[in-house]
Amino acid sequence: MMECIFCKIAQKETPSDISYEDERFVVFSDIRPKAPLHLLITPKKHIPTLLETKEEHKELLGEMILLARTIAQVKKVNGFKLQMNVGKEGGQEIDHLHLHFLAQSRG
Ligand code: AMP
Ligand code: ZN
Repeated sequence: MMECIFCKIAQKETPSDISYEDERFVVFSDIRPKAPLHLLITPKKHIPTLLETKEEHKELLGEMILLARTIAQVKKVNGFKLQMNVGKEGGQEIDHLHLHFLAQSRG
């Protein structure tokens, strides 16, 4: 788990451009942005993929999406795309649950 880059970002062992943080989540800029504003919404808890989530993660998953709404309000963007790549076949490269937040303006 300590080899996980997103865990290292959450623990501040790897530098990143963090735009929001609370006790459960960290939101930081994607290093290879695919939109003018490309953030990654990431739970601090290490869960590899959506396929590994359970009933007990319902609240966490709901919070993740609501956090996207908060980020939009803070960044003052009126619209955005959310994308979650799930598993190798789904194009997921980093095995730590995350939601891509993509907006055409930086607000
Ligand atoms: P995914 O394909 O959904 O697993 O997306 C992983 C994303 O993480 C990619 O868009 C990468 O550009 C991004 N990424 C990888 N390493 C870092 C890093 N150290 N800091 C910020 N973003 C990263
Ligand atoms: Zn991790």
